[in-house]
Amino acid sequence: MNKYLYTIVLVIVVALAAGAFWGCQREQAELCAMCSKEIPARTGARLVSTADETYYTCCAHCALLLASRAGDEGTSFRLMKTKGYETGDVIDLPEAFFVYGSDVVPCCVPSVLAFASRERAEEFARREGGEALDWGGARATLALEAGDQCEMCSKSLDIEAAKPTALLLASGGDRVACCPHCAFMLEKMLADRTDERVEEMWTTGEDGKLFRVGDETRFVADSDAPICCTPMVVPCASEEAASAFISEHGGRMLDMDETRALMHEHAGEGRHSGRPSSG
Ligand SMILES: [Zn+2]
Ligand SMILES: [Zn+2]
Ligand SMILES: [Zn+2]
Repeated sequence: MNKYLYTIVLVIVVALAAGAFWGCQREQAELCAMCSKEIPARTGARLVSTADETYYTCCAHCALLLASRAGDEGTSFRLMKTKGYETGDVIDLPEAFFVYGSDVVPCCVPSVLAFASRERAEEFARREGGEALDWGGARATLALEAGDQCEMCSKSLDIEAAKPTALLLASGGDRVACCPHCAFMLEKMLADRTDERVEEMWTTGEDGKLFRVGDETRFVADSDAPICCTPMVVPCASEEAASAFISEHGGRMLDMDETRALMHEHAGEGRHSGRPSSG
């Protein structure tokens, strides 16, 4: 009888210990994978890698950082979900819209809050400050804010002297450059040496605003604007913006393909200021 009781007690003790262990494990799993903060119910995100590992982050800020880091380490995420900030509905991060740098800071700084639609994000930004961005815009903004120097020539990402530019890779990673010159060179280097594909390029326009490079984008070469790398081009979000810029600063207008060709043409000339090319 005593022996029987002893066994029961032993079983209970073992069960409790196991419970405490798993409980502890579970708690650990629910700390942010980037900053080790506890996961707030309103802003938490869940990311599942292609290797089926699950990560939690405290907010969209840390989710963006984690997603870009995974890209650098050669893995990527097949699922990224978070909750809409005001509504609590579950949304896919790549489909979400974000308010970056608003006065509402429930978790990390700068505050990055997720919303299900652009309208909702813009409405929130009007009310609380910050900028409404899509997934690419939020990734590029954070990459340029987190990066301190050009990954091509090591110059600092100085918005006064240069036109900081981010390359967003299909893997989820990113590369940052001091200006479109270095961004096009980085793009070429990635294409030549790796199987990384550049998904989007974001650059800083003549008005200092970040925008996605696309068919509408024009670059102005040979203007009197301060020179970052040679040959220097100034990005403009539209043909109208480029015309207005040229009437003030001179130069000639190029589209994206013409700009890329101009950069590659000068690639081997060693005219690049900054760190010498490693070939
Ligand atoms: Zn975090
Ligand atoms: Zn956070
Ligand atoms: Zn550079």
